[in-house]
Amino acid sequence: MATAKAEKRTSRQSVNAKVGLAPGATGTDVDALQKYLKKFGYLGEAPPAGIVAHESHSIIDSRPIAQAGKFDESTEEALRQFQAMAGLPVTGVFDAATKAKTSAPRCGNPDVGSFVTTGGRWATTDLTYAFSEFSPDLDPAQCRQAVHQAFSTWAGWTRLTFREGPAATAQIIIRFVTGDHGDGAPFDGASGVLAHAFFPGTPPAAPTPIQGDTHFDEAETWTLNVPPGAGQIDLTTVAIHEFGHALGLNHTPVTGAVMQAFYGGPQRILHSDDVNGITSIYGGYNIAEASWVHGTAIQIELPENIEFVRRFGFFTRIIGRPNTTNWFHFAIPTPVIVNNERKTFGPCMLRFSTGGASALVRDVHLYDGEVRVAAHNNVNLSGSQPFTRFGIAHAPKVLWGVGISIGVTFGGGTAANRTMDFISAGCDFQP
Ligand SMILES: [Zn+2]
Ligand SMILES: [Zn+2]
Repeated sequence: MATAKAEKRTSRQSVNAKVGLAPGATGTDVDALQKYLKKFGYLGEAPPAGIVAHESHSIIDSRPIAQAGKFDESTEEALRQFQAMAGLPVTGVFDAATKAKTSAPRCGNPDVGSFVTTGGRWATTDLTYAFSEFSPDLDPAQCRQAVHQAFSTWAGWTRLTFREGPAATAQIIIRFVTGDHGDGAPFDGASGVLAHAFFPGTPPAAPTPIQGDTHFDEAETWTLNVPPGAGQIDLTTVAIHEFGHALGLNHTPVTGAVMQAFYGGPQRILHSDDVNGITSIYGGYNIAEASWVHGTAIQIELPENIEFVRRFGFFTRIIGRPNTTNWFHFAIPTPVIVNNERKTFGPCMLRFSTGGASALVRDVHLYDGEVRVAAHNNVNLSGSQPFTRFGIAHAPKVLWGVGISIGVTFGGGTAANRTMDFISAGCDFQP
């Protein structure tokens, strides 16, 4: 890995073109801009020689096709689409903000293109994944945790399950590789493109081996720490995004969604746009048999770190001492065994409200009565959370009863800022 680590010292340059490049310009600056727009799917390739294009769009590809080295109408249209997708002012000119965005860390999958309309999806909802290699930045258990959390995030909102299995039969192969790694989409060294993933096909066609495969650029320095250290990238966040592609989602222009093309630091919770996307493909999760407890059932692990606690009807209000952490625990009534069969975990659900970022639900851990079955770490939720869900990728059997443990960080500020109302907690059980 010596060469790979050496690459980490390099940093990605923005598109090498002068700021202010505008329609009508020609030359190598335009070439550089067009290369970037082509790479991320805003400009199509010119049709093969012999086919006369009557307009700026080819028949099989709706993307505009530009004349090489000329800032023509197609280049302007592509640039405007990029600016809209990136949340920039849509100027059609290669301005300073656009130049800066072209050097921002991002996903290597194109933003627009024919994938949008392929309707790719898996024919099964029970998927298997395997690691081809692990990142040398982390130990295998950490890589497994990031990947399990990422799959669990999607599993909270659909009936999809994800189990680690043998590579020979796994749909989703996970790789950590550098540079040219044999799939025609070489990685670019540190920063820039962080990862990419292959969309599923369209049933009933049998999936090809590469479909669903997810590759991480090992020239990045991957971490599970939040906030990541300087120059480090949050593996869990990027894995959630890439698995969205491996399930059939494309990039979205919606600000705050996990499926945006650009990496903006840790974000380990789906946005409603992501939930709408995944449920449009696989359907939503239908509750089978949920058990709930009121927030008054909560157990406080470290009472000495609590400034105030009081029961209000069905919820418990807690004010944490400034700059402390604590754990809160719920035991969910669990049928465990029905008709001689153990129940299967569905998602766990929480209803709570905090006085703001000074009362932060950091981690949500799920237990089966004996071991931890899922860890949603650094989800960092605050404010009004009327219905959040935490899935479990591999949908295990419930061994003895469901426990939910909630790690909370209390910051500074007023007592109101450090207030948490635990309203209720629940878990669904599948037969
Ligand atoms: Zn992407
Ligand atoms: Zn690849």
